[in-house]
Amino acid sequence: MEKNKCFMKALKCRECGREYPLEATHVCEFDFGPLEVVYDYDRARKTLTKAALESRPRTMWRYRELLPIAGDPTVGFQVGFTPLVRADRLARHLGIRELWIKNDTVNYPTLSFKDRVVSVALSRARELGFTTVACASTGNLANSVSANAAAAGLKAYVFIPADLEEGKIVNSLIYGANVIGIKGHYDEVNRLCAEIAGKFGWAFVNVNMRPYYAEGSKSMGFEIVEQLGWEIPRHTVVCMASGSLLTKIHKSYQELIKLGLVAEAQYKVHGAQATGCSPISTAQKAGMDFFKPVKPNTIAKSLAIGTPADGFYALRVMKDTGGSAEDVSDDEIREGIRLLAQCEGIFAETAGGVTVGVAKKLIARGTIPANDSAVLCITGHGLKTLDAVVNCVGRTREIKPSLREFETLLNADEQVNG
Ligand SMILES: *Cc1c(COP(=O)(O)O)cnc(C)c1O
Ligand SMILES: [Zn+2]
Repeated sequence: MEKNKCFMKALKCRECGREYPLEATHVCEFDFGPLEVVYDYDRARKTLTKAALESRPRTMWRYRELLPIAGDPTVGFQVGFTPLVRADRLARHLGIRELWIKNDTVNYPTLSFKDRVVSVALSRARELGFTTVACASTGNLANSVSANAAAAGLKAYVFIPADLEEGKIVNSLIYGANVIGIKGHYDEVNRLCAEIAGKFGWAFVNVNMRPYYAEGSKSMGFEIVEQLGWEIPRHTVVCMASGSLLTKIHKSYQELIKLGLVAEAQYKVHGAQATGCSPISTAQKAGMDFFKPVKPNTIAKSLAIGTPADGFYALRVMKDTGGSAEDVSDDEIREGIRLLAQCEGIFAETAGGVTVGVAKKLIARGTIPANDSAVLCITGHGLKTLDAVVNCVGRTREIKPSLREFETLLNADEQVNG
């Protein structure tokens, strides 16, 4: 790579196109449109080649030219390049020819796709001179900010709805972060954080650092295409909270086309939500360009954002690619988690159950045709949301430490199973 490692040109308003310097700022002063990073693609095309990639580490940083930092990464060197698993048994179950799982349940270090966005945001925060980092989170973001801040020696304040799963709370506290539980929904947490960010001059990864943070999600899409042997999947199913990941998967495919790393192809990006918090899927199904805010009530707490910041753009991506959205009930979410675990040996959190459940619906109704191929983005680990499934996994059968007792149990099983 060249000496000048900054491939960013500016921040640019998505609405009016006005450009802004590469600072910790996220909305346009004129129309409040969200700001997005603009890159020098002509320069990136010269160094981000398949030949160059062969010698690079198998982490998300191999796509460095398309990630928004000015120098070398300083946080999260090991993040990304999670397995893309061929899921034949689940494919048979759902009735589709070819199915892949992009398995971010094993992302490093906090077992969710949020490690991608956080390593980018914290690396950039350090470049901009911040020493305190913060976030408004539905759980996984708080975990990742806490862990990565600890490893980088940064001070962390993480703000969450007070009623999150115990697993998500403990997984932030253990790293010594300041964990603040807000008695309210995520949208109220987020509103408070916008006020705090303005007042204290901290790097809020998903508020004032959001243009940089959000770009980290593209790495999931880059990896999918590379791991498929430089091919864009016909169908990608993505769960949606703010809708940011879905929009960035689309952007990642577009950038790889722009750089000539993959052939232009027809593809559809589909969105998945929980019925108990489905502002985006409800709007998509009604053919609307705008969503109506909702009050969340679902076991998929990581996706429980009633006023999704990127909902409008997620709807546009689905419209532009011909994708669809669906949502699933809490029972269907649990069933999705169990299906993925029992067919593929992958234990996903509730958000993963949403993705599997929605994929099942889209395949069943032919929106994803049976003779096609699809990738499911599985974004977080099930060990963090044990509460959601603890009552639907059956129970241990207890016996004394005696061979006779075990044989009796086995005989009884054979009577039942024939
Ligand atoms: C945050 C999160 C998402 C999606 O978030 P977006 O705000 O839509 O980018 C998906 N899955 C899990 C597990 C998450 O924590
Ligand atoms: Zn603007």
